[in-house]
Amino acid sequence: EFVFDEVASFVETSSEMETEKEESRTVAERGKEDRKMLPIYAYRDELLKLVEENQVLVIVGETGSGKTTQIPQYLQEAGYTKRGKIGCTQPRRVAAMSVASRVAQELGVKLGHEVGYSIRFEDCTSEKTVIKYMTDGMLLRELLIEPKLDSYSVIIVDEAHERTVSTDILFGLVKDLAKFRPDLRLIISSATLEAKKFSEYFDSARIYMIPGRRYPVEKLFQKCPEPDRLETAVRTVFQIHQTEPLGDVLVFLTGQEEIETAETKLKERMNDLGSKSSEIIICPIYSNLPTELQAKVFDPAPKGSRKVVLATNIAETSLTIDGIRYVVDPGYCKINSYNPKTGMESLLETPISKASAEQRAGRSGRTGPGKCFRLYNVKDLEATTIPEVQRANLASVVLTLKSLGIDDVFNFDFMDHPPESSLLKALELLYALGALDGKGEITKLGERMVEFPVDPMLSKMIVGSEKYKCSAEIVTIAAMLSTGSSVFYRPSRNQQYLADNARMNFYTDKAGDHIALLRVYNSWKEMNYSSQWCYENYIQSKSMRRARDIREQLAGLLKKIGVELTSNADDLDAVKKAILAGFFPHAAKLQKDGSYRRVREPQMVYVHPSSGLFGESPKKWLVYHELVLTTKEYMRHITEMKPEWLVEIAPHYYKLKDIEETQPKKTQSRRSRSTRSPMAKVETNKKAKR
Ligand code: ADP
Ligand code: MG
Repeated sequence: EFVFDEVASFVETSSEMETEKEESRTVAERGKEDRKMLPIYAYRDELLKLVEENQVLVIVGETGSGKTTQIPQYLQEAGYTKRGKIGCTQPRRVAAMSVASRVAQELGVKLGHEVGYSIRFEDCTSEKTVIKYMTDGMLLRELLIEPKLDSYSVIIVDEAHERTVSTDILFGLVKDLAKFRPDLRLIISSATLEAKKFSEYFDSARIYMIPGRRYPVEKLFQKCPEPDRLETAVRTVFQIHQTEPLGDVLVFLTGQEEIETAETKLKERMNDLGSKSSEIIICPIYSNLPTELQAKVFDPAPKGSRKVVLATNIAETSLTIDGIRYVVDPGYCKINSYNPKTGMESLLETPISKASAEQRAGRSGRTGPGKCFRLYNVKDLEATTIPEVQRANLASVVLTLKSLGIDDVFNFDFMDHPPESSLLKALELLYALGALDGKGEITKLGERMVEFPVDPMLSKMIVGSEKYKCSAEIVTIAAMLSTGSSVFYRPSRNQQYLADNARMNFYTDKAGDHIALLRVYNSWKEMNYSSQWCYENYIQSKSMRRARDIREQLAGLLKKIGVELTSNADDLDAVKKAILAGFFPHAAKLQKDGSYRRVREPQMVYVHPSSGLFGESPKKWLVYHELVLTTKEYMRHITEMKPEWLVEIAPHYYKLKDIEETQPKKTQSRRSRSTRSPMAKVETNKKAKR
């Protein structure tokens, strides 16, 4: 049962309400004159003038007003691309791809020619490219190669309100860069009113607000929120479908898993409804959705039918899908969380902020009056989300900063400072991995690790494989771990046991998930990369093709740092040791009660149900790839190892005592002090000198 939100119904009536509705047209029909329909068009000349006059400009505008797709085109029309590329960063890969493809379409050019995008493991640009969309993380990587970004005339840091770690680091770097590049133009673009904060940070930069169009949005909320969010969301979609006039529905879910479950549920219910069901078209959109399906979400629903978009946070501000009139908002999203004390990092499902709730609701009122169904009470929400830099593992960015020659990371010009403990933990990990020396300076090994666009532990594993002569195996494993989705296909219903049996074929010696992933890849390769083979073995061929792509790139980077691909396929111990070379901090030991404990930390961790070792007779010692927190801390991707390897591979980190059978408590605390890195001291000294 939904009731009106007493607090805020009809609050967002904009000053210039427009009543005439835009007819829905096909994407192909949307062309040049379509660009003129966007709210930003009226301010084109004013905007260009401001860019000319101000080196740094903060732009705020309603989502969907045309900031991301139009500003780079205006700048190109004004001649900026004669001096250099226009770079526009996005926090999300899908947004970078999708927006680039849209702009290429508007300009009538082939994607990857004049307009292109660059995301991790995928570079769709060429010599010709003058408008380049990219993830914020990719621009950080470009800075490593081109510290002054000489090939750019304008940098747009878009979606600045998202405040990802990479965006925050970019802020500091481009702010500094602007001093050395007076010709460079910087645009910070945001959907929300944090503008003042951005402006202050960029030395009182000029703020420009693009007036938006917004129609009133009726907000309804559930009197008694129900525990099963997903079920309620699905039911609400059907309630809308059966009682509300035509218009598309946008449902906000937390990730691929929820989206797939919701899709199945919706389809089941549609079947139960019979003929009426044809009127609903389900379109999922999330970051790992195959590219060819991503575009589908923008196709208008055929006449008489209703599109139901199942989206992650990506549809909150990054992507605008036209035609949405109803929003179903369960009020949750997934965020990174990191505990600097323990070094534990996990993805958490958390309630969204009030600011997000407003953004989400606003998505229904873009082209006409809308309705937002909230499955929670907005009063229970926090005002804003904490910037990611304050709740993330910073190892990767600290290494990047060190590689850029920024030695004193504590004194970096952060817009919001991360906790000191996070920075220290990052420095300590990098020291333990050998990427930094005792003085906190980047080592040769560290410089080699930076070449790889992956987390430091993974890059250490890759670089470390040289020593164990198994680089061919290790790049395969690294690639398989980086596909972003499981390679094992698990049908939702009665064929599950067949899929599980097929999967166990790769676990013949029960060595672990890393080794199984290696076997999957090698078997697929032996079958000439056949999709038929994938189908027969319940393997996702799309993930496999992505793994092959990634593998090729990682192998190329290895070559670049002078490491030949060598195979040591018969020596699994060598492969496991190479994994440990990067992941030794992720060692866990079996406890009497069947749980595991991290070797140098007191937390309990458990085998993830998705592991091929789950439910098998437990191994005494494991190394895990990552932790996922749901009901407990689960280790995902685990492999058996020998404890003596820990002291062999990381003698500076583990002492014999760590791997002995019984550990008297007292000595443990003394020991952990003595094996602590000198980082804390070095960095505190630096601070004292300041
Ligand atoms: P903003 O950045 O201000 O939020 P955008 O430039 O992203 O706005 O969006 C402007 C318009 O372009 C919207 O109407 C949106 O629907 C459309 N658009 C953006 N990307 C695509 C795409 N890939 N396919 C179709 N339409 C798109
Ligand atoms: Mg945008």
